[in-house]
Amino acid sequence: MRRTKILATVGPATDRADRLLKLLESGTDAFRINVSHGTSGEHRATLRRLYQVCRRARREAAVVVDVQGPKLRIGELVGGTVRLSRGARWTLDKEPAPGDEHRTFVEIPSFEQAARRGDPVFLGDGDVELSVESTGPGTIETRVVSGGVVRSHQGVSLPRARLRTAAFGPKDRADTALALEEGFDYLALSFVRDEQDVLAARRWLDAHPGGRSVGIIAKIERAEALGAIDGILRSADGIMVARGDLGIEVPLARLALEQKMLVRKANAAGRFSIVATQMLLSMLTSPRPTRAEATDVANAVLDGADAVMLSEESAVGQYPFEAVRWLDRIARATEVAFDPMPGRAMVRSREPGGAELSVARAAVNLAENVRARAIVTPTHSGRTARLIAALRPTCPVLALSSSESVRRRLSLVRGVRSFPAVAESDLQSLRIRSLELFGVVGLAPTGPMVLTAGYPVAGRPTNLVTLVEDGGPRSGKRSVQGRVR
Ligand code: PEP
Repeated sequence: MRRTKILATVGPATDRADRLLKLLESGTDAFRINVSHGTSGEHRATLRRLYQVCRRARREAAVVVDVQGPKLRIGELVGGTVRLSRGARWTLDKEPAPGDEHRTFVEIPSFEQAARRGDPVFLGDGDVELSVESTGPGTIETRVVSGGVVRSHQGVSLPRARLRTAAFGPKDRADTALALEEGFDYLALSFVRDEQDVLAARRWLDAHPGGRSVGIIAKIERAEALGAIDGILRSADGIMVARGDLGIEVPLARLALEQKMLVRKANAAGRFSIVATQMLLSMLTSPRPTRAEATDVANAVLDGADAVMLSEESAVGQYPFEAVRWLDRIARATEVAFDPMPGRAMVRSREPGGAELSVARAAVNLAENVRARAIVTPTHSGRTARLIAALRPTCPVLALSSSESVRRRLSLVRGVRSFPAVAESDLQSLRIRSLELFGVVGLAPTGPMVLTAGYPVAGRPTNLVTLVEDGGPRSGKRSVQGRVR
């Protein structure tokens, strides 16, 4: 059973029921909609389609809505693309008309103050670089330093400019309100600066119907977020190492180290991490990854990331399903060499006394000592399952929850598979439910299960760890709800 999760971005290449189903069948665990692209009508239709497909496939995949944040983007371009040549001039202005090889629209707050002569301007993931020559009322004149093809609505980055704009602005709120009407699982918050940005989004979600069951993924893509990461991890449910923009904001030569630091800190805080962007970029047009890409994915798995993400590869690429299958194959091949010990030692507790973490450690120790097939853990909010998973046990974690929303959210957590449970289970019914899970596909064929529980009554914090042996009267070679790959 693969432990590392696969998050696939939905786009024109895959946004059809049959293709979404094929993404699931290829190994996708969770879906991302990037609402920087498309119309609100399209986002609504995609959300509906995703839930329909998941229901039909009996899969509980998390749906991540990734809001634009204070990201600057160019406007529409005539014909959708423009080729910029080195040395050419290109004007950024406030004129909403479609752009061409001479100019483009960019909505920049406090436009004239945003840039100074000599400042670099990057487009897309930094492939095209401009240099500011002059600024005037409503215009920034640039010269092309490094040319290439620019597409409509591509991101613009001015790393030297300090644009004090909120991470969860009016457009993000409108997009999130629409997504709440359809239902979704995680809000991916772009260009987070610090914990306050996460808390502002949390407060907004909590005040809106359905928002309390939506988790927050803080996208780490600004240099200042690196210094504020401990606070961000306190308030977010998980983080995304958004290497596209982060690779512009920090020296590219340091990106691998920042990734390792972020994954390690997230895991130590009991939060999940997603490594994103350009994982298999060559698969936009090729059915096989490059050696470097295969190695990059393997390194994310060895770093201990919970999930790896596809962006353009699954949104607009020619080989979206092959890309998912390659992630699956590389993750499976690499996980056997993952060493959980260094990360496990660093996981720390937030509550005084650390009882929950101690019980989680006891469950993992017992599971490894008796070579258990799995750890079965009832979880109310998903917290216990996340804590056990953060210790990276060598066996899978089977989370039991009565909440479909909790089960879907756990689909991004490494090593966890979720199954339905009745809300108020006593110890005996949990043991019976564990026996049913002996039949789960992908578990080791021998060994007991380790079961955690709140004792004596359900609803208590997890305080008990026990063994469930195979061979009881209900030991189940019965079919189990929820497929496990
Ligand atoms: C990134 O910058 O790496 C990222 C994932 O964000 P976006 O796709 O919104 O640019």
